[in-house]
Amino acid sequence: MTVPRLIDSFGRKHEYLRISVTDRCNLRCVYCMPEEGMEFEPSDKILTYDEIADVVRVVAEMGISKIRLTGGEPLVRKELEKLVGMISHIPGIEDIALTTNGIFLGPRAAKLKEAGLTRVNISLDSLRPDRFKMITRGGNVQKVLDSIDTCLKVGLTPIKLNVLLMKGVNDDEIADFISLTKDRDIHVRFIEYMPIGHSDEQWKSLYLPLSTVKEVCTQQEWDYESVDNVKGNGPAQNYRLKGAVGSFGLIHPVSEHFCQSCNRLRLTADGYIKPCLAWTEQFQVRKVIGDDEALRQMFLEAIGTKPEHHEMYKFLQGGQETTHTPTHRRMSQIGG
Ligand code: SAM
Ligand code: SF4
Repeated sequence: MTVPRLIDSFGRKHEYLRISVTDRCNLRCVYCMPEEGMEFEPSDKILTYDEIADVVRVVAEMGISKIRLTGGEPLVRKELEKLVGMISHIPGIEDIALTTNGIFLGPRAAKLKEAGLTRVNISLDSLRPDRFKMITRGGNVQKVLDSIDTCLKVGLTPIKLNVLLMKGVNDDEIADFISLTKDRDIHVRFIEYMPIGHSDEQWKSLYLPLSTVKEVCTQQEWDYESVDNVKGNGPAQNYRLKGAVGSFGLIHPVSEHFCQSCNRLRLTADGYIKPCLAWTEQFQVRKVIGDDEALRQMFLEAIGTKPEHHEMYKFLQGGQETTHTPTHRRMSQIGG
């Protein structure tokens, strides 16, 4: 039997599945979750590791080779190493990455690597203790910095640092973040703040286009060149300071979307396939797990609804009407 491939109506081949393993988190970042009152799914609504592995087995036959585990905070889910091990044995899976806030990562880095984790993205929006605490509503930046050191020691590299830039909040740290790449295998990726799942007013006042990063390099009189040899680059435009070990990249989903090369699908912790981050369409897999043919059909149906592109740029132009309904989910309920 020929297994159908995950190719959408715009010819985009899908090789990448982002799996959210929990909607819970130990932090409450200001751009991601409210300080209080967040409601979480009861544990019986969350996919089990066996269910997740079953989905991965089926989509691997359809062409998915790269998995990212995310959340909420994936490391608050017990024994994540076990899931990494289960997925790493599935034929066709070549790459298993983790997106984490890094607080719990250090002590678990070696075990995760041993289980088959290929690399990590650590979200870190400030290097300054007070500011980090303010952005994450309580986090300790030293724990994240220690985790980065441990990952370098155990060879969980290259390390990508996701830095969400916010106007007037952390844009004065751009040079400090780029400086981290000078002598370490660290790849900083500046990310634009997306208008997903929270108040429009907050987003409008904090959104910053990433052209700012190049302006900072010019002010610093830094020489930099384009590079595209960082493993798992995805949509980032990447640069390297002359002579640096690491690199820095720009991910600008709002000001310049990269949907034409989108190769990703998402699976939420409560079991929905989301073909597009921005829109509301979602498909519940739980009812078809165990029936491989029905599961394949559901993925094909989901991919059939994938739009050509999202329309976050419309928010920049004063919130014109969009062609699809924006998702009601928060980032922590999607996985970023
Ligand atoms: N807890 C993990 C972490 O923080 O890395 C994984 C989940 S988090 C939802 C995944 C990524 O989404 C993080 O890098 C975070 O900075 C990013 N994110 C959350 N809300 C965002 C927003 N409104 N715009 C852009 N990125 C966002
Ligand atoms: Fe938690 Fe990650 Fe969201 Fe921050 S960005 S609240 S760490 S899920």
